[in-house]
Amino acid sequence: MATVLSGTLVAQQLATKLQKRIGLLRQQQVIPTLATIIVGNDKASLLYANRQQQTASNLGINYQLITLSQQTTEQQLLQVIQKLNQDVTVDAILIQTPLPAAINPQVIRQQVAPIKDVEGQSAESIGRLWNGQSGNLPTTAVAIMKLLHFYQIAVSKKHVVIVGRSSIVGKPLAALLLRENATVTIAHSYTDNLASLTRQADILVVAIGKANFITAKYVHPGCIVIDVGTNRDAIGKIVGDVAFQQVQAVAQMITPVPGGVGPLTVMSLLEQVVMIAERREKQHGR
Ligand code: NAP
Repeated sequence: MATVLSGTLVAQQLATKLQKRIGLLRQQQVIPTLATIIVGNDKASLLYANRQQQTASNLGINYQLITLSQQTTEQQLLQVIQKLNQDVTVDAILIQTPLPAAINPQVIRQQVAPIKDVEGQSAESIGRLWNGQSGNLPTTAVAIMKLLHFYQIAVSKKHVVIVGRSSIVGKPLAALLLRENATVTIAHSYTDNLASLTRQADILVVAIGKANFITAKYVHPGCIVIDVGTNRDAIGKIVGDVAFQQVQAVAQMITPVPGGVGPLTVMSLLEQVVMIAERREKQHGR
């Protein structure tokens, strides 16, 4: 039976460290501030923002939620971003996806000032990531690395298979794993014979958005399985991309959903807000 890797536990430890750092910033009259923009009424986005808001306020981070109507144009959204870019009290800007079809997320993401780009999605942040330079990083990928570090799972010389190539999970995670000398394979919806590939993994990371898709036949005994997926099953329960019970019987270690990567992603996001606030405080003071 696989050991369960608790993201909640790691998030709690990180929260304690963050509270101290936020306390120090507040002594300097710096209040770390995150502005999240949601366009439309996507339920998952609103739920995620709610979780961000609660955790941020528990920690002492100022949280601004900006909700715009589904009819918002690209131009109007750009104006909101420009205003936030210029606002010296805002440290970090997060644009929640999905955006309405009329708005191109690629165009929008490039308008966030790179220093405030808390999701690490600007061209500058992506370039720095792949060059191995410091900068803002996609927070889900950071959360997965934190989980591996906490449980002392070394990735050097390991074959890590990532299923899913999104710009917020699969691709940035590959870059972070390469920094630590893993051998990385990224699979996606065009990958042939997925199970024969995933069975070669020492560590399997799944981020596809399909409830219980990865069953025992995809997993080699002894594999470490990280489930990023957050889905609702037929009865509305939150489940991952991995069929937890049957994969737990085969794997060596496994993350649960909920309680795995999710809580750690929120905390990693807020840590990045604090890092940006610390950087600005050091450079400019306030
Ligand atoms: P996304 O942008 O929709 O990307 C999904 C990826 O999965 C794509 O690369 C797609 O391939 C691939 N894929 C889909 N079906 C596949 C299949 N049958 N076989 C192999 N690959 C397949 O999704 P995302 O934003 O990365 O999110 C993925 C999941 O993670 C969602 O459930 C999301 O809610 C969850 N998530 C959780 C957290 C957290 O903190 N826990 C954070 C972010 C996302 P193509 O590129 O070929 O289309």
